[in-house]
Amino acid sequence: MSGLTFRSTKGHWITSLSRHGSTGLFVPLSPPLDPEKIRELQCFITLSKKLLVMTGAGISTESGIPDYRSERVGLYARTDRRPIQHCDFVRSAQVRQRYWARNFVGWPQFSSHQPNPAHWALSNWEKLGKLHWLVTQNVDALHTKAGSQRLTELHGCMHRVLCLNCGEQTPRGMLQKRFQVLNPSWSAEAQGVAPDGDVFLTEEQVQSFQVPSCARCGGPLKPDVVFFGDTVNPDKVDFVHRRVKEADSLLVVGSSLQVYSGYRFILAAQEKKLPIAILNIGPTRSDDLACLKLNSRCGELLPLIDPH
Ligand SMILES: [Zn+2]
Repeated sequence: MSGLTFRSTKGHWITSLSRHGSTGLFVPLSPPLDPEKIRELQCFITLSKKLLVMTGAGISTESGIPDYRSERVGLYARTDRRPIQHCDFVRSAQVRQRYWARNFVGWPQFSSHQPNPAHWALSNWEKLGKLHWLVTQNVDALHTKAGSQRLTELHGCMHRVLCLNCGEQTPRGMLQKRFQVLNPSWSAEAQGVAPDGDVFLTEEQVQSFQVPSCARCGGPLKPDVVFFGDTVNPDKVDFVHRRVKEADSLLVVGSSLQVYSGYRFILAAQEKKLPIAILNIGPTRSDDLACLKLNSRCGELLPLIDPH
């Protein structure tokens, strides 16, 4: 469209993205729903009076956002892409330029993803008083879009931008307008979006991309998310630990629990002897700690559960 060419590591994936649409493409295969398992989860939820739910990338794959780790369909399995490292981003203006160029292209698609029935179910549970607290490892704002309020975004949110110098937070949508003003002739089309809104671009495209700095102090801008190699804010961790202490049960939805920032709360729940249920397609780090494990699509199973 603009004379730009895109480099992709797996061209056939991009072709199939446009042929089949995005929804469903990133969801791993799962066995049909087992009525007995549905009854067991229903019993787990009915017995729970202070339910803590922790969600991961698996809840958003049904909204068309790929995860990193799923067998065959996750980004690690499909491409040679790996997530950005925090120290590289902070140290190098070139790394930031590359990151923001890709993020700029991916933003219209990434920000347009909508909650799926699993997000809506959890939001509904909250409205009915069933959900004590919701902790998500996702940065896609889909729980917020579904109306969840008793929510901690453990790894931040791509819809906010943070100044690394003065700490000012601004909406990501505003930054998109600044990108457009600074790069009037720079247009491109997203060819494949990662969980963090990233896309694939050539070096030439990246090098001509102009990155704005903080409007208040001129400092470098970073999405308000925890990159790999960074740590979650300790106040946030304490806050979630307090919610775990108050809870009487824990349900994990769509997470393999490979990342310690989330896994530590499973360990805390286990220490407190809370019953733990896990809904995730594929094995998780905590299957042996769970009293109930379900290998189902979140968006198919959760809406079947009566939260009363
Ligand atoms: Zn600033």
